[in-house]
Amino acid sequence: MLKELIDKFYLDRQKDREQQHFYITDAGKCPRAVFFKFKNAPREDMNANILRMFDHGDHMHQLIMKPLLSIREVHVVASEVNIPPQELISGRADAIISDGKNLYVLDIKSMNSMVFKNLDEAKEENINQLQLYLHFFKIPRGLLLYVDKDRLDLKEFVIEYNPTLAKNLLKDLADLKNKIAKNIIPSRIPTYSEDWQCRYCAFKEICTLANGGEIEWEDFKKKIEKA
Ligand code: SF4
Repeated sequence: MLKELIDKFYLDRQKDREQQHFYITDAGKCPRAVFFKFKNAPREDMNANILRMFDHGDHMHQLIMKPLLSIREVHVVASEVNIPPQELISGRADAIISDGKNLYVLDIKSMNSMVFKNLDEAKEENINQLQLYLHFFKIPRGLLLYVDKDRLDLKEFVIEYNPTLAKNLLKDLADLKNKIAKNIIPSRIPTYSEDWQCRYCAFKEICTLANGGEIEWEDFKKKIEKA
């Protein structure tokens, strides 16, 4: 009885989630998948357990912040910090911390033991996200802190601000915004279908119905409505 009710709670939160603006997590992601999110295109249902894992990630953040708020060597300047309001994108960094000399933007990521064990460097998608935080907060370096959610081990990587990368990410988002306004579905990513993004993509079914290049959304929408 409870399982069904709890699953329904999570699945209902997912319904009709038409995206209205970019989130920092969209930076560097497949533009076609982000386009489909904006248009609320038909997507594969997520399992309720995956949605619960997102909530579990929030608890991991609290677990890490608790000692940070108590130790003397590090000062938490602010936690859950929104980027300054602007038109293109919104996002909230986990914290801005200081070691007494330098400021760092802290971003905490949790993952399962298998992924954690093989993690030798920061993940590209996490670096992209952090670069935009560094850009908007005007802070020259950040920390990506990874938590193994099964064993609670930690790994950390210091990331320096890369202005070229940040500007390219913002330019790509501005281009995508233009395509969303003009109803032009972007091309598939060049690494389709081997890319991890394709493996976990909720839109892969409709993506296969379109060809690889740019296409008109209104025409394609009629095609998928008939399918
Ligand atoms: S299947 Fe791959 S290329 Fe197609 S929308 Fe998803 S992530 Fe993009």
